[in-house]
Amino acid sequence: SLSVEAYRRQHEIVVTGDDVPAPYTTFESAGFPSEILRAIHHVGFSVPTPIQAQSWPIALQSRDIVAIAKTGSGKTLGYLIPGFMHVKRLHNNSKMGPTVLVLAPTRELATQIQDEAVKFGRSSRISCMCLYGGAPKGPQLRDLDRGVDVVIATPGRLNDILEMRRVSLHQVSYLVLDEADRMLDMGFEPQIRKIVKEIPHCRQTLMFTATWPKEVRKIAADLLVHPVQVNIGSIDD
Ligand code: ADP
Ligand code: MG
Repeated sequence: SLSVEAYRRQHEIVVTGDDVPAPYTTFESAGFPSEILRAIHHVGFSVPTPIQAQSWPIALQSRDIVAIAKTGSGKTLGYLIPGFMHVKRLHNNSKMGPTVLVLAPTRELATQIQDEAVKFGRSSRISCMCLYGGAPKGPQLRDLDRGVDVVIATPGRLNDILEMRRVSLHQVSYLVLDEADRMLDMGFEPQIRKIVKEIPHCRQTLMFTATWPKEVRKIAADLLVHPVQVNIGSIDD
């Protein structure tokens, strides 16, 4: 419709894919559970950012997505809230392993995502934890043993723990590659591919990146199935 086109033009949203759903221009129109809406209200956000507005309806259709938007555009909640709803819909036994896996390049980023996940997921009783290197494994292993819905991990530490057979990814059905461009720049591609081999094919895969160079396009082509692509602003690679 005209208003969808106008919203996309105004916010420099370019979508590529079949039957891409209209953006959610308000939080209320997204159909989130009331505890999520309350958490959003509590932090005082007034409207979704463009990447959130356009990514949410796509992610909630359980489709693969490549989202390209610059740093600071609100990508974290773009994948976390649909991830929480995915956890709620499946109600897997968290003792059997996580349902949602988020891969991020650094300890700092993983910790920031974890903070956001706790802030917005706690009232929905979603359990989240963070795995990163440069810290003892003991507490991380104990948290895993307690059972967890959402794991946010750097590829290196997750692979270490997989090799120890202390976590199973066979329940993961929502995989996020956050800051995909940075993860590849840091040389994590082999680690990412090793992790993905442990995850069932029947899954939803979401890739978030600030840039769209050919290395990122290649791994997207290998790991995602008919993704909808969402660009915010100009693409610089
Ligand atoms: P990115 O991953 O794209 O770099 P983040 O997800 O880290 O961006 O978000 C950047 C900042 O914007 C964070 O402090 C986050 O809490 C805030 N933020 C996220 N969504 C909104 C929103 N809808 N309105 C206002 N601020 C938001
Ligand atoms: Mg981010």
